[in-house]
Amino acid sequence: MSVANATGSFVETTAPTQSLFERVQAQIARAARAIELAPDVHAILDKPMSRIAVNFPVRMDDGRVRTFTGYRVQHNNALGPFKGGIRYHPAVSMDEVSALAAWMTLKCALVDIPFGGGKGGVQVDPSTLSQSELQRMTRRFVYALGPNLGPTYDVPAPDVNTDARTMAWIADTYAATLPPHERHRAMSVVTGKPVSAGGSPSRAKATGQGVVELIALWARDKACPMEDMTYTVQGFGKVGSWAARILKDKGARLVAVQDHTGSIRDPRGIDADALGEHVQRHGGVAGFPAADAIDRDAFFETPADVFIPAALEDQITERVAARLNVRLVAEGANGPTTPQGDAALQHRGIDVLPDILCNAGGVVVSYFEWRQNTTNDVPDPKRDDAQLREILARAYERVAAASHGFGLDWRSAAYAAALQRLETVYLDRGIFP
Ligand code: NAD
Repeated sequence: MSVANATGSFVETTAPTQSLFERVQAQIARAARAIELAPDVHAILDKPMSRIAVNFPVRMDDGRVRTFTGYRVQHNNALGPFKGGIRYHPAVSMDEVSALAAWMTLKCALVDIPFGGGKGGVQVDPSTLSQSELQRMTRRFVYALGPNLGPTYDVPAPDVNTDARTMAWIADTYAATLPPHERHRAMSVVTGKPVSAGGSPSRAKATGQGVVELIALWARDKACPMEDMTYTVQGFGKVGSWAARILKDKGARLVAVQDHTGSIRDPRGIDADALGEHVQRHGGVAGFPAADAIDRDAFFETPADVFIPAALEDQITERVAARLNVRLVAEGANGPTTPQGDAALQHRGIDVLPDILCNAGGVVVSYFEWRQNTTNDVPDPKRDDAQLREILARAYERVAAASHGFGLDWRSAAYAAALQRLETVYLDRGIFP
């Protein structure tokens, strides 16, 4: 249900009936039925292997101590170390982190890299902390997690409101907990580090680059030339801004952008680099001088070929899906579409590149960074680009084949292909004892 507010915009009033993690479980169950997944394997994947909650004290700049709550959920490690980002946001909860961790398991299985799925976060609005408070909070969070992290056990990465600098603090803090002769192996405890601290030059752009690779495959199949393509982006952070900059290089035209500060539009095209600089300086897209400010509904109604959600969960509700005026939703964000939104997109014949496929570029290049660190190799951006393209193209074909073979929509097909990969490892290895 939706009602008009004072400004004439519509506001959703219906709370979702299922939690985010329950929705992931339902989605897994749907795909499991379609492929007749072994019930034992389904039961294992239905729940995270472990859920860790920590409350930890941090000294604030004014001398007072504030206690923060952080989470790390380790969903599954059948294919390799738990892998997944750390998010700083006031809405972080055990349920949200559990859903995000399960998606990581499915994503890594779908693209077939040797990682499992994990996710973490701290319930905080980082904009309210100074840089030194943020650093102390990050370091105390890592200290509180203790042996739950490790280069061959659980390897975090950036997510919403965390970045390369946060990852460098994590690696340095983890190193400090090791005996001196073991500290050299601390580097691979985290990916998405600054290049100077063992990071990969390919990592910062990787998720956005992957989104563009997937859009290009869709465009090839739909005979929609990239140089004629128009698109809109929600979220102009790490994922959204990189996707937009790379699409600019391909000749596609960015016509509208929305973030937490507002929405802007220019049908003649918004320059992604200039907007990126504006966001760096002002903290959001609001006030960008070379486009018109519009309201939230007008943003979603903007005609374009592609819409890239690259912000948070639950953005494409049934009501938003009914307003979208696009041919493709390319999910840069994790979980941007509610089940009702998904049904509405299908009903309207709007294609979807689902999150576990569309934003997998980040974890694939995280794997390259981890491999570079664990083998003492040097970065090789050209090799990374070629391998990323190859891995994502294979995953795209896998999803297309599952969609065709099982008669499934693309989201269910992506889950089905991922579950099949996980099933093989359990059936081959058996269950201890
Ligand atoms: P980020 O913190 O760099 O950017 C988040 C963006 O979302 C910002 O532009 C912010 O303004 C916008 N936003 C926040 N609340 C909003 C709202 N209510 N309405 C509109 N916009 C809003 O985060 P990111 O790393 O770019 O992650 C974005 C999404 O992509 C998340 O779902 C994340 O899990 C997913 N993801 C990220 C990576 C990665 O490598 N960073 C990899 C895979 C998936």
